[in-house]
Parts: sequence; C-alpha cells; structure tokens
Amino acid sequence: MMNPVPILLYHSVTADPAGWIAPYAVSPATFAAHLDAVVASGREPLTVSQYLDGLTGAAPLPARPVLITVDDGFADFAGNALPALAGRNLPSTLYVTTGALADGPHDSVLPPAAMLRTTDLAGLEAAGVEIGAHSHTHRQLDLLPARDVAAELSSSGDLLAQALGHRVRSFAYPHSYWRARVRRLVAEAGFDSACAVGNALSSSRDHPLSLSRLMVMAGTDAATVAGWLDGSGAHAITRKHRVLACGWRQYRRARQAPRGLRWPR
Ligand SMILES: [Zn+2]
Repeated sequence: MMNPVPILLYHSVTADPAGWIAPYAVSPATFAAHLDAVVASGREPLTVSQYLDGLTGAAPLPARPVLITVDDGFADFAGNALPALAGRNLPSTLYVTTGALADGPHDSVLPPAAMLRTTDLAGLEAAGVEIGAHSHTHRQLDLLPARDVAAELSSSGDLLAQALGHRVRSFAYPHSYWRARVRRLVAEAGFDSACAVGNALSSSRDHPLSLSRLMVMAGTDAATVAGWLDGSGAHAITRKHRVLACGWRQYRRARQAPRGLRWPR
C-alpha cells in the first residue's frame, strides 16, 4: 500500500464509562499512552480537513500524517480527551451527533450518556479540534430512504454551522455504515470528506468520502497503536471482509426495529 495513513477512531475517554459504551471506551491513562505513541512515531498530526487539503493539493501533504478522530460527542471529550491532546499539541477531529447534544433537541437514538453541549463546540474548535457532523439521530444511514438521509445530513450540518458560524466540511457515518448512494448524498450535502471504519490503514487510494479508520476498543493497547503508526499491524480490507459486511447489513435490515438499534460507532 502506498503511504499508509493511520486514522484512529475513539469514542469515549473515561475510567467510568456507561455500560453500553464500555467496549469502546478507553481510560485517560490508556489514551495518554496512545497519544505518547503518536508523538513518538514522528508522524505529523492533522485534522481530517487538513489531510483532505493535502490529498487534493490545496495544501502540502506531509510524508507521514496521522489523524485522531473521536465520534459521537461525549462530554468526556472536553474533560478528558482535550487536555491530553492539547498538552501534546495534537489536533483532532470530533464528529458530533447533533441530536444527542445535552442542550439540543434530543432526537438521537443513542442510549443516555453525558454529552457535550452545543455551547461547548466553538471553544473546542478554538482549541484545535475540527468539528464534523455525525448525523442528527445516529440512525444507520444505509438503511434509510434517501429523503431521510438528506434530512440527517442537512439538520446536523445546519446545527453545527449555527453553533460555529461556518459550514462544517467533514462527516462520519454513524455505525460506519455507508454505501454508494449514501456517499453521493453526503457529497450533495456539501461535505468534502467523510470517515468510515475499515479497520485498515487509510491511504491516498481511499475515496475521500469513505476514509478508512482504525477503531480503538477498550482492550487496544499502546503497542497495537504503535504497530498501526508503523504502517503495519492493520491489514487491508479483503474481499472476505466486504462479503461479511454485506451479510451483516442484510441481517440488520431483517431485524430492524426500534429495539434492534445497536449502539454507536
Ligand atoms: Zn457514532
């Protein structure tokens, strides 16, 4: 693979996660160890839009970028993740589920958790965090009709634009599920990059609207992250994985019911 680029995906940084998010939460100590590995790698940390600008030639692309992304908008981002990031001068990209914001309209299907407030977002941006959209309700977009997908994209984009005073450029698929028609709608909504999860290193060969991320789980140790940063330790998406993902989508569709909504990503 040419110039492998690790794009890390976190959710919650806390020593005391709610049960439903615990498999995807890391403790502040683990997060700090991961960030130390990022710094030690000598890679150049970028926001997703800075990386996109490098890919498109709008800005120079560093030889060895690394991207840190955080999904959903948990309150612990401000309390635990940001101090660790800022202390190391690491930019990051935070994808916010607008319907889950603590002071928002409460339209999300995410289970209850302490979430950021709309009024936190401008301060986070000023501290080096790119804010991106992660839909409004966190429904699985690949299972929704096009008009509902468009509404998810426009309402989340509009709410963030209102909070920040400008349009946001980047999007992350809830549950990481996307397909070609969803990706087209993301482009039509005005986003110029979007993150998925491939559990593979990204590269300039990735489509900018389906960048592959490496999902950090509760048990992901610093050595594993260091392996990703080395450009090894994460295998490319194989045909077998794609077939499995397709089967999983059919299973979810067959089971789709309010209580069938599984948690985040
Ligand atoms: Zn999510």
